[in-house]
Amino acid sequence: MNPQSATSYARLIDLLKPHARSLLWGGACMVIYVACWPLLARLAGELIPAIGDGEFSRVIRVITIALIVFLIQKLAQFGQDTLFAGPALWLSQDLRSDLFRTLQQVELGSIEKLSAGDLTYRLTEDADRVGEVIYKTIQDTMPSILQLLAVFIYMVFLDWQLSITTLILAPLVALLVSQFGAKVLKAAERSQKQVSDLAGLIGEAIQGLPLVRAFAAESWLQLRFENEINQHRKARYKTLRLLALQHPVVGFIEAGGILAVLAIGTIRIQSGDLDAKGFSSYVAALLMLIDPISHLTTNFNEFQQGQASLRRLREIEKQSKEPSDLKNAKSVTKLKGDLDINSLTFSYLGDKPVLKDVNLRINAGQKVALVGPSGAGKSTLFSLILRFNKAQQGEIKLDNEDISLLKVKELRGKLALVPQQSIIFSGSIEDAIKFGRKATDEELIYSAKMANAHEFINELPNGYKTKIEERGTNLSGGQIQRIAIARAVLGNPSLLLLDEATSALDADSEEAVQLGLRQAMKGRTVLIIAHRLSTVQGADQIIVLDKGSICEVGTHDELMRRKGRYRVLCEKQIIRDGQCE
Ligand code: ADP
Repeated sequence: MNPQSATSYARLIDLLKPHARSLLWGGACMVIYVACWPLLARLAGELIPAIGDGEFSRVIRVITIALIVFLIQKLAQFGQDTLFAGPALWLSQDLRSDLFRTLQQVELGSIEKLSAGDLTYRLTEDADRVGEVIYKTIQDTMPSILQLLAVFIYMVFLDWQLSITTLILAPLVALLVSQFGAKVLKAAERSQKQVSDLAGLIGEAIQGLPLVRAFAAESWLQLRFENEINQHRKARYKTLRLLALQHPVVGFIEAGGILAVLAIGTIRIQSGDLDAKGFSSYVAALLMLIDPISHLTTNFNEFQQGQASLRRLREIEKQSKEPSDLKNAKSVTKLKGDLDINSLTFSYLGDKPVLKDVNLRINAGQKVALVGPSGAGKSTLFSLILRFNKAQQGEIKLDNEDISLLKVKELRGKLALVPQQSIIFSGSIEDAIKFGRKATDEELIYSAKMANAHEFINELPNGYKTKIEERGTNLSGGQIQRIAIARAVLGNPSLLLLDEATSALDADSEEAVQLGLRQAMKGRTVLIIAHRLSTVQGADQIIVLDKGSICEVGTHDELMRRKGRYRVLCEKQIIRDGQCE
């Protein structure tokens, strides 16, 4: 197991180290708490014969001492529980933070394979469960084990022969508990997977709600949902039935044990080996074993469920990570924006090549339109320039530097992507444009003006401080797009990668977005996945990509005259919104 893995046990212990002080004080409280149990058993041994003898003053004295012991014990328990709660909560927070960091480093291709709902479930519920189990382990399991040991040692001290009976029963209980534990673990894993699937479906359903309505597919979706929750109920029922069976079985063995001890104890009293006082203490101590055993049983199950969660968290860590920078990776300073692509060939995971021997030269400041049918490899080319993927052959050079030799974060800082359907995070408009970068108010307003967004932002009730709701529902499609353009411009990128929106914006929005784009493109190298005639006509160069290869290069007029692939695309309205002449 990788010791650095966020979910390895060594790492869990590492995460607890900064809280050693609280843990030590909590441990001290725990020792006091546990030590009180044999003391109470001894007091019970005094009390029961005293009650039998009717010695009122002795009864009062023992009760008073017992009350004081109880008080000390409960105070110690409070100290133990609160002192352990902090470190356990910190641990679960650190674990979650580590995992989120890992998630940010996982290759995009691997993340796309996992559903958003499933990932959310893992990072919330599973991480929570692990935290809870750790809390239970330190706050409940450890004292229960110690209590079991302390009380049992006291019992051996009282009568070792009688203790042998108890000892014979203990492994039987342990065996049954562990057998059940393994079954509970399997059932828990199945039921957690069901919840993950459910979360995935809910995520899809929420995203696709308008689509579902449009297709009147509500009853189909409801049926799928019912099916999922039905599976979930069944899986959960199996776990609960196992748990329900475990308690009576373990309880019955315990009760049988106690009755056996009582019977043997009576024989030992009759033979004069044990007095009534000792036997009373012994029975009291025996009863004190039941509670920790039942706690251990429950905690063991939870521990098994926690292990299932830990395993699911580990799966995130197993996903392949983005390769880190080379040791001697170069810093990216100012870029002019010359882009050279030489003999680039790329395929996804052993599939056939998606890009084949692509060669391309874009001079700084040029606007180049990339056109081609869906699946031609246009977005893949973007992902290679952004270093989301690495080509098997060939190279991409920016200002004559191979991008794979540059520091990836600095490289991405000089590039900007405006995707077809922009995603903006909830928060204020200012936050959405800055997107974690530092910028002055002037820079913020400048980029918004460039994106033709300043005017509409100013008209909003709180201007740049206006809150954007989740998925930008309080903004129009065109407004979101313009915020995304401002976000791209703010970093003053040398190379702008634009994926032109294909979904129809209304004419006014379209015009406003186009104006923003035209302004944003000024003075930069631009590679644009184009779908509109007006865009290609304005480009310095058009590159026609088909099945991963460049088949034509030229201006609109040149390519129309050539009557080749480009003209066909135009006539088939793949390049649309205009007359192809
Ligand atoms: P375009 O942007 O021109 O529509 P893409 O670059 O998205 O084309 O896709 C090119 C080809 O690569 C398509 O056949 C697509 O199915 C495939 N592809 C895209 N992304 C992945 C991926 N993550 N894994 C495997 N194949 C992919």
